[in-house]
Amino acid sequence: MTFIKQLTCRECGRAYEVAPLHVCEWCFGPLEASYDYDAIAASVTREKIAQGPSSIWRYADLLPADRGSAVDLGAGFTPLVRAERLAGALGLGEVWIKNDTLNPTNSFKDRVVAVGLSKALEFGFKTAACASTGNLANSVAAHATRAGMKSYVFIPSNLESGKVIATAIYGGNVVAVDGNYDDVNRLCAELAGTYPWAFVNVNLRPYYAEGSKTLAFETAEQLGWRFPDHVVVPMASGSQLTKIRKGFEELAKVGLIDEEPDVRVSGAQALGCSPIAAAFLSGSDTIKPVKPSTIAKSLAIGNPADGYFALDVVRNSGGGMAAVTDDEIIDGMKLLARTEGIFTETAGGVTIATLKKLAEDGVIRPDECVVAYITGHGLKTLEALTGTVGPTATIAPTIDAFTSAFDIDEE
Ligand SMILES: *Cc1c(COP(=O)(O)O)cnc(C)c1O
Ligand SMILES: [Zn+2]
Repeated sequence: MTFIKQLTCRECGRAYEVAPLHVCEWCFGPLEASYDYDAIAASVTREKIAQGPSSIWRYADLLPADRGSAVDLGAGFTPLVRAERLAGALGLGEVWIKNDTLNPTNSFKDRVVAVGLSKALEFGFKTAACASTGNLANSVAAHATRAGMKSYVFIPSNLESGKVIATAIYGGNVVAVDGNYDDVNRLCAELAGTYPWAFVNVNLRPYYAEGSKTLAFETAEQLGWRFPDHVVVPMASGSQLTKIRKGFEELAKVGLIDEEPDVRVSGAQALGCSPIAAAFLSGSDTIKPVKPSTIAKSLAIGNPADGYFALDVVRNSGGGMAAVTDDEIIDGMKLLARTEGIFTETAGGVTIATLKKLAEDGVIRPDECVVAYITGHGLKTLEALTGTVGPTATIAPTIDAFTSAFDIDEE
């Protein structure tokens, strides 16, 4: 049972049936899932959610796919951990880390893929596909195998080896394309018109994207059913950021939380691929596509599909944005690991570096309850750290060698 009612064009508002469609045929605007919120309000309660599985499917009433047909590797319900040491280092107060490195394939993409492929099965698709900056490929390959589907995942040929291996291991087809993500995406848009495949982020995008709302649902539930004051979200296409906002609004709409969300939303990008942040920081309404060059490859989308919507959400909520350098990204990865014991990939480094910058600029305040979304695991991007961390000392296997390398006082 799902309460999705129709797809709605985000530009002109025209309605479409629940089908594998993603663009409005009148104005070419993107389509988005709409629900029967009265029916959801009558069905959903905090108690019912608490009795549900420890995964995104505890919020099935607010998702566009049926839990009965769910492709389930256990995505979601990741820890929300209080980060006191990090907060102290940044001069902030109540800071939480949403640790999405602990998903089945170690990134937040498992949330969106689980929803997208569950819907694909309902539609009768046999083959899963995607255009990926890396993590999506990992997740689609794993979930397709789990669902008994074939898979074709398309990636830029310069990806981190960890991401290629962690995709190929599942046995689907991995297609490395000589080009950047935007080239891969263009190719996939053409292929989606040629083959009857479920491209999760092309023809299934309206369903797939809804999976990101679970980040907002979990955050509010794990805070004891309250809204945070401020969230910091990494941006590639900008979809996740807009859906976190939508998720908070829906909690109020269906009566799970009794107040309107007053959540400031801030966006994080790498300077080497910051089309959305550049528009925000220059006060412009135009997002200029860029050619990415950054170690944060999972965020390297030069022409972001949801960029304008993300810009709107951040401006309307009173949030901020930052574009951080590769060195700041590595410092961010180290800072999180060394204060909180959480090892994130480069995208998480972008988030922490942005948190730091916005705290220094006074955009994020010490009196706010702040949640930072850490969306992927550090073992996936080891290359980025090569030469920046290593053994404290390399010694011969003798006590003498050890004592001459380390000057140890008691403890
Ligand atoms: C895909 C991805 C994001 C965000 O993607 P959007 O396209 O903005 O929704 C964030 N972090 C990681 C690690 C990702 O792989
Ligand atoms: Zn339209």
